[in-house]
Amino acid sequence: MSLLPYDDRDGWIWLDGQFVDWRDAKIHVLTHSLHYGACVFEGERAYNGQVFKSEEHTKRLHRSAELVGYKIPVPAEEINQIKRDLMDKNGFADCYVRAFSWRGAEMMGVSAQKAEIHTSVAVWEWGNYFADKMKGIRVTMSDWQRPSPKTIPSAAKASGLYMICTMAKHKAESQGYADALMLDYRGYVAELTGANVFFVRDGAIHTPTPDCFLDGITRHTAIDLAKARGYEIIERHIKPEELSTFSECFITGTAAEITPVAEIAGHTYKPSVITEELVEDYDKLVRGKLKVSETA
Ligand code: PMP
Repeated sequence: MSLLPYDDRDGWIWLDGQFVDWRDAKIHVLTHSLHYGACVFEGERAYNGQVFKSEEHTKRLHRSAELVGYKIPVPAEEINQIKRDLMDKNGFADCYVRAFSWRGAEMMGVSAQKAEIHTSVAVWEWGNYFADKMKGIRVTMSDWQRPSPKTIPSAAKASGLYMICTMAKHKAESQGYADALMLDYRGYVAELTGANVFFVRDGAIHTPTPDCFLDGITRHTAIDLAKARGYEIIERHIKPEELSTFSECFITGTAAEITPVAEIAGHTYKPSVITEELVEDYDKLVRGKLKVSETA
């Protein structure tokens, strides 16, 4: 597969108030957040020209910044408008959307009280996150755990939290798996490296309580869709010993959408009625073919 580098493409990126040529959207090497991990970001998808849950994503972006200690200088309505304008300018109707903020290069050290806050938005075309999605992905267990919310603000979508995800994902891929399931600091099932996880047992849907990992926007959408179908949702702490007791498993995330899981560390799952219904409903919902009022 030939890679199309992200810094060498045609198109436009919005950076600190202006649309700039894609190749000119640059920052200095002594940018604080590059060294100290406090870039906050959103991953969103647009379908048929509409960013799915755009306002919610922008709200989370602002909240993530507050959690890591700064305020994004661009109001939510403006960010939402920039996403639309940028899609038009780049000619995309179906694309991934990345809005992000970070501390600049005015200070270099742990303290960065006077560093300027920068903001950028980029959009690009991106297909399925996993190849052969409907076959179900194979997942391994990660050695890394999601940290306590007393260690890091785990509700923030911030770059520092992704160091663990990239290490876990690289190890999984090097062993032939698509992704890794991480436990949390207490040993409960938490999430994958870029998605939340759900299990099915006896017709009910079980999912970990999001008390130390990202409470995904897609996770909430899947819960709404499942409730609208009449399924019981049980949010609770799930022990890894229970992985052998579930019949279906699927993951949710903006990039992954709803993706069936075929295996976690030797435990196999058969994507069946519930997973298939939710994959189908999600697909319709994001394309405006299922009314929101039909979801709980
Ligand atoms: N957990 C992690 C670690 C993620 O990166 C993501 C993707 N943003 C999710 C969960 C799912 O979040 P969302 O559904 O809001 O995309």
